[in-house]
Amino acid sequence: MLPSSLLKMLTPSPWRSILRKNFTCVKELADFLELTKEQQSQLILRPNFSLQVPLRLAKKMKKGTLDDPLLIQFLPLSNELESAFGFSQDPVCDVNFKKENKLLHKYHGRVLLVCTSACAMHCRYCFRQNFNYDSTKGFERELHAIGEDSSIQEVILSGGDPLSLSDEILDDVFSTIAQFQHVKKVRFHTRFPIGIPERIDDHFLKILEKVPQQIYFVIHCNHPKELDRDIFDSLKKIQALGGIILNQAVLLKGVNDRIETLKELAEKLSNHGIIFYYLHQLDRVKGAAHFEVSEETGKKLVAELAKLLPGYAVPKYVREIPGEPNKTLI
Ligand code: SF4
Repeated sequence: MLPSSLLKMLTPSPWRSILRKNFTCVKELADFLELTKEQQSQLILRPNFSLQVPLRLAKKMKKGTLDDPLLIQFLPLSNELESAFGFSQDPVCDVNFKKENKLLHKYHGRVLLVCTSACAMHCRYCFRQNFNYDSTKGFERELHAIGEDSSIQEVILSGGDPLSLSDEILDDVFSTIAQFQHVKKVRFHTRFPIGIPERIDDHFLKILEKVPQQIYFVIHCNHPKELDRDIFDSLKKIQALGGIILNQAVLLKGVNDRIETLKELAEKLSNHGIIFYYLHQLDRVKGAAHFEVSEETGKKLVAELAKLLPGYAVPKYVREIPGEPNKTLI
């Protein structure tokens, strides 16, 4: 019989077991969603940006239709193959802001650690889907650069999704950052809790508890149907540690371009102490043109939202213009 410590090491954490059950085959997900042959003929069976959909999200998709707001975000439809003027591989010009292979420095006082290419789910409109990720292990050079630059007050863990990393790796990164007196905030950009809230487990929370800096968690949720009780419960545990939870959404055609949807999303978030801080205009990544909503429509939606909700529940409508010192308010 194996000793219990070894057994623990060999047994994957529950969230990893859940992650392994993700849909990664388009045909399998299409069958699960009971799509007809005709509907399936509108799908890309082997997309370049592979399919990743947690079971929790798939279960929330309406069966027998291609018009579901969750399905549209994750299932590769053939309109991705249409080319559109102004849509490119790297719409935000990430490559211009590389300070080290896994470190981007775009805005004053903040750096972005591109921790991993892995995500719990693959969003079809992801602006970083063509990013040339460095797959080498460790963040020695990046952390050294952060330690040397006293103007950096905030480290943003991004990717991919930083919660794809093991707790041990995250713990190592935090332990190093903890030594930098000038770093006051650590921010996660993550969509993980939306698909696999089990990721916020006791082990992870213990690691988070030790971080001396203020923790910010920026989740990414576009539609109220993505949210549920388990997700709020897991985020509450981070709030209980003093972490601040924010949400950013992308304005997407067929997903959240109706006032009723945006209002419901904003209300659900604010009812649970989550600040809806940004509604992003779509970054014009190749293959995502069918998601674009005009800025005129976006402005009307946000103005309408402001009439219905308290100011703190209304997101700022922004777009990213490469080279600008901050996100541009629309
Ligand atoms: S979770 Fe974020 S990084 Fe991952 S595919 Fe979606 S938008 Fe891109």
